[in-house]
Amino acid sequence: MNTEQLIAVIHQIAEKIEAEKAFLTELDNVIGDGDHGINLARGFGEVEKKLDSLKDKEPGDVLKSVGMTLVSTVGGASGPLYGTGFMKLGGAVRGKDSLTVPDFLAGFQQAIEGIMQRGRSTKGEKTMLDAMIPAKEAMESTWNATQDPKAAFAAGIAAAKEGVAFTKTIAATKGRASYLGERSIGHQDPGATSFTMLLEIVGGAV
Ligand code: ADP
Ligand code: MG
Repeated sequence: MNTEQLIAVIHQIAEKIEAEKAFLTELDNVIGDGDHGINLARGFGEVEKKLDSLKDKEPGDVLKSVGMTLVSTVGGASGPLYGTGFMKLGGAVRGKDSLTVPDFLAGFQQAIEGIMQRGRSTKGEKTMLDAMIPAKEAMESTWNATQDPKAAFAAGIAAAKEGVAFTKTIAATKGRASYLGERSIGHQDPGATSFTMLLEIVGGAV
């Protein structure tokens, strides 16, 4: 994936988030403060405004700029967390003109570690990490077995969806939803849901 393709994917992500804004906000209404869709739509709206000026940059710099914009324009927890993820992904692929599946996987791992550090969170706490970590593991094992980008993304997306379903079964121990404790059981995590949407868009472009 080169810069032109990456920018097209980020446009699609922004459109998807805008289209799902109400749904994501509704999910957050139930176990949080009802702003997840609004937060991400604002952030990706700002990202979109900058994309034209990034056409001549390498993919890593585009990703870093996306991350910095999310950190600086999204008020909720998800802005700094997603922002950190995009910045780490960008840093991991520095110097490359085009990104391969192994590049993406290495960056994905850095992104997960960055989010865990910034959020002081781990798997099993009903957050975006419950979609991200299984997705990365499934992508990696399918890639190693098949060397097929489409198959790797399909496996990652399937695992992310299972992760979203898993978040329904557990109580939140991080983020605002943790204030609800056991009462958060039965409801899917908004951040795990939005991450799955992002991965579906990227997967659709490979
Ligand atoms: P806020 O919680 O500040 O209102 P958002 O509603 O935009 O921010 O985002 C909520 C999402 O952020 C949650 O659904 C969860 O996936 C994610 N999240 C919150 N706290 C953490 C954390 N410490 N680590 C990882 N993800 C988190
Ligand atoms: Mg919220």
